[in-house]
Amino acid sequence: MIANKDCKIVWNKCLGVIRDILQNEQLFNTWFRPIVPLQLENSVLTIQVPSHYFYEYLEEHYIDLLRKTIRRELGNGAQLRYTILMERTIGSGTNVVLPSTGYKAVHNLPKDMPININTENAKDFPNPFTIPGIQKVRIHSQLNGNYTLENFVEGECNRLARSAGYAIAENPGRTSFNPLLIYGNAGLGKTHLAHAIGIKTKEKYPDKTVLYVTAEQFSQQFREASANQTVNDFMHFYEMIDVLIIDDIHFWENRVQKTQEAFFHIFNYLHQRGKQIIITTDKAPADLAGLESRLISRLKWGLSADIQAPNVETRMAILKQKLANDGVEMPHEVIEYIAYNINTNVRELEGALISLMAQSSLNKKQITIDLAKQMIDKFVKNTAREITIDYIQKVICDYFNLPIESIQSHTRKREIVQARQLAMYFAKKMTKASLAIIGLQCGNKDHATVLHACKTVTNLAETDKQFRFWVEELEKKFNQ
Ligand code: ADP
Ligand code: MG
Repeated sequence: MIANKDCKIVWNKCLGVIRDILQNEQLFNTWFRPIVPLQLENSVLTIQVPSHYFYEYLEEHYIDLLRKTIRRELGNGAQLRYTILMERTIGSGTNVVLPSTGYKAVHNLPKDMPININTENAKDFPNPFTIPGIQKVRIHSQLNGNYTLENFVEGECNRLARSAGYAIAENPGRTSFNPLLIYGNAGLGKTHLAHAIGIKTKEKYPDKTVLYVTAEQFSQQFREASANQTVNDFMHFYEMIDVLIIDDIHFWENRVQKTQEAFFHIFNYLHQRGKQIIITTDKAPADLAGLESRLISRLKWGLSADIQAPNVETRMAILKQKLANDGVEMPHEVIEYIAYNINTNVRELEGALISLMAQSSLNKKQITIDLAKQMIDKFVKNTAREITIDYIQKVICDYFNLPIESIQSHTRKREIVQARQLAMYFAKKMTKASLAIIGLQCGNKDHATVLHACKTVTNLAETDKQFRFWVEELEKKFNQ
């Protein structure tokens, strides 16, 4: 299609009006300058927009402005048609009727554009979307080759997420797990699994474009694109992806509104075309209150699979696998000791193992259970393990061989009163809980009782030898 003269004149008039109304040069340059008028026939103005996103954005934000301006120039019967440049997947000439606006959009597609870019070394293009006009470029997936599915130990804690990941890699975009949302606390393997799915997909489908990106990188890229007025290239780039992995999207909570909006469009674009989306976050979708609600509703479309903290068998299996990968041998009792003592998350588990191996090789010491104990004592203290009031009560009751309910009871029996006072003393010392909360949890007492208990324990520990012994023994147990 060649722009006829009238068409250009009409469009230029429209642009003048739009510019005046917008009063914002940057918005004007971003959203109206790139539009090319193509044809004017029977009051139907056809404009070419650079991308599908661009078209959606105009429809969402500027349709009223466009409608008014075009009707002003062409009368009430005026219609607007869009042609989308570089649309890849919809067949030529697809008609899309948009009932919301009464306008018709026609996707009129050019043939595949020739690409004269050396695609051999995709690493040369760390940000390919900054290069306009590229349609097919080999995109570097940003996947970490160590994070394979084979290296990802399966356990009760991650079974659902792992098997969904496996199914996706076999059939990306074609399972009902789209999007796949993996959620769980830090250090439990979300990033590892997300990479693993990407790697497996690439093994099976080398031609698919897989991309791993953190939510932070994504918003950074978007910010740069906005500043450089290259949002369209940014959108094109993401529209080319077959399997898009975005890590840690809780990073967007209560911020980066525009990034969320851009992602929403990319999500829709890819999802509609059967492309796979994989997302990780540190909380369940229902708790992601700081994200745009329409985005949250999309995230619930597929499967949300959580990863829990591993149980002791899985922790052992993870340790054994890391050792096997590194070709290091370690006595079974040492592995067991680490697995039993580090139960918070896998990153800490690995950290402990690495420190132990480093200790032994630096000091030329054999890895023994004693070395492990020394090292883990240091390690666990450093990592501020959280001790709860419940846990304190349990340890004290176990130590004195009392039923745990006795602390909650109203009995005035001496041994129980003492256990209760010890629980209050340690709760004050080892948790951040207020006196009121401690009192509430230790037999529904008030804060003055807790304060009194703390004083009593301190006094007794100074004057009574037996009592001091108990306090010291319990202290050791809490610091283990
Ligand atoms: P997250 O992204 O949830 O914070 P990561 O994926 O970064 O956690 O995992 C932390 C570390 O623990 C990584 O080195 C990862 O390889 C390891 N890891 C976590 N889960 C497993 C598992 N099931 N099997 C093997 N290694 C694991
Ligand atoms: Mg992570």
